[in-house]
Amino acid sequence: MRYPAAVWSGPLPTTNYEPGGMGTVNGLVLHIEEGTEPGTDAWFHNPTSIVSAHFGNPKSGPLQQWVDTDDMAYAEVNGNPNWISVEHEGNSGDSLTASQIQNDAELLAWLFRQYGFTLQVCDDPSGQGVAGHVTGGAAWGNHLDCPGAPIMAQRQSIVDKAHTILHPATDPIMEVLNVSITDPEFAVRFLFRFCLHREADPGGFTTYVDGLNNGTLTLDQVMADLQDSTEGQAVIAAERKAIGI
Ligand SMILES: [Zn+2]
Repeated sequence: MRYPAAVWSGPLPTTNYEPGGMGTVNGLVLHIEEGTEPGTDAWFHNPTSIVSAHFGNPKSGPLQQWVDTDDMAYAEVNGNPNWISVEHEGNSGDSLTASQIQNDAELLAWLFRQYGFTLQVCDDPSGQGVAGHVTGGAAWGNHLDCPGAPIMAQRQSIVDKAHTILHPATDPIMEVLNVSITDPEFAVRFLFRFCLHREADPGGFTTYVDGLNNGTLTLDQVMADLQDSTEGQAVIAAERKAIGI
């Protein structure tokens, strides 16, 4: 698929990607270009480079897309079939600009709607979420400085922004919840029934109640977590089907 908010910059030479090569998408891998957006664009269009990424994120301005998400980019070796790749203009050690974080969050929200992986920071190459090139170690080409520690540490803010995009604070249901529920135990029981149509399991109940009590979680985050889970998405899909939308 082509991401509607990106500038299409393909197709690349077919030496540099595999048409139709994507398998199950586990999430998004962040890379650093070690250079400029125009330089990376030129390298990916060079048929002898044998490298590519699905997306490029300049320090300012919109994303560009080089490879359709149905096709496999050559970005992280053994990770290629299962991860969407995004390059970032700059050098290892840089932090992402506000524009780059916003672009990544919007891309992540769009990818989540298409593929339904778990929205979280991911440090396991066989997990799901937002990883970095470094996450795959030797099996992903041993690029241990890609994208660099500062950007790896910015992944949580990308995930948080994606949750906000998917569940805006103006959501009328959350407004109602925020003004009417002040007891964390009641809130968690309510949100499990509301989002998953079942009682809270003991592990989930304790985790969310503790998070609400010690301030590391908000009601918005608990609700987003439940709705964005595989189970929550299945409930939403069944509800939509039942009412014909
Ligand atoms: Zn990389």
